Amino acid sequence: MTRAYNFSAGPAALPEAVLREAQAELLEWGDARASVMEVSHRGAAFEALVADAEADLRRLLAIPDDYAVLFLQGGATQQFALIPMNIAAPGQAADFVVTGHWSAKALAEAGTYVDARIAADAGAPYVALPPRAGWRLSDDAAYVHICQNETIQGVEFQEAPADLPAPLVSDFSSTLLSRPLDVSRYGLIYAGAQKNVGPAGLTLVIVRRDLLERAGQPRARILSYAEQAAQRSMLNTPATFPIYLAARVFKWLEREGGLAAMGERNRRKAQALYAAIDGSGGFYRNPVDPAVRSWMNVPFAIHEERLHAVFLEESDAAGLLALKGHKAVGGLRASIYNAMPEAGVAALIDFMHDFQERHG
Ligand SMILES: *Cc1c(COP(=O)(O)O)cnc(C)c1O
Repeated sequence: MTRAYNFSAGPAALPEAVLREAQAELLEWGDARASVMEVSHRGAAFEALVADAEADLRRLLAIPDDYAVLFLQGGATQQFALIPMNIAAPGQAADFVVTGHWSAKALAEAGTYVDARIAADAGAPYVALPPRAGWRLSDDAAYVHICQNETIQGVEFQEAPADLPAPLVSDFSSTLLSRPLDVSRYGLIYAGAQKNVGPAGLTLVIVRRDLLERAGQPRARILSYAEQAAQRSMLNTPATFPIYLAARVFKWLEREGGLAAMGERNRRKAQALYAAIDGSGGFYRNPVDPAVRSWMNVPFAIHEERLHAVFLEESDAAGLLALKGHKAVGGLRASIYNAMPEAGVAALIDFMHDFQERHG
């Protein structure tokens, strides 16, 4: 068995227990006498799976009844376009808070459809969040957009910003299900699955139903949230296998104690890793404001640039995968999503100590 601890930012590690379940029923799913990948999405068995998945997700996140849950495709990037198309009138204002790579992408894409305004910009190198008091919000905005967790810079909103004049829309791609969440503070939450929810190919949208009635309806039915909500995300063939695996992840999360337990575990993992970095006497560094450090993505650098390549080679050989930082910031990054056990973080910290002793 050479399965290693995988620190990839995405597509990311999945819980081993879930992969084993999928392996055991890959050829025959339930009574289907076929794989779950080979049955009709409109058959009773698959419809029951989707209904069950939605119920489990609603329970995990305590999603209020006045929110629709959509199982879509196209990734978070497609949502950068669908959100303005669906919940704003053409050319209407929308406010964006820019805190790193992904919120900047969302802003740029929305500008094709709406008057996308920068309410605040943390500014490079994006290691802090702009204080809420300084945001310049419009009176006429259709929504306020944030990125809950900047996967590349490692900056995370610890809670929903308050006192907004328009519904809050947040990109949760790299932090959904990592801790409890007050859904009612948001108008719309979206996430590509491949960080913390399941495999690539599934995109979750949780949207307050009143926003589905808004004027700016896309002209293509397939791009319409309202149509997808009315058809239970089955306007066309959904991403059946990713939905099946995500449904297994939801069950796994419930067995692990739900999001309160996950949040405590993720807090411990992040605290241990940041403490190791901060306690290394400057050998390792994380530049992010400690108050907004991400629990999921921990970028760090070694004081000597040339050691990064050595670290990557040796860590990979030691069974610690995918620790290379995103090319936009360089250095190293450990993504420690739900599927990363505490033992994996402990193994990384041990390796970091050992590496420092040999190269410090
Ligand atoms: C990965 C990521 C994206 C892009 O996701 P795709 O599914 O590849 O479109 C967008 N936002 C955040 C915060 C991400 O982590």
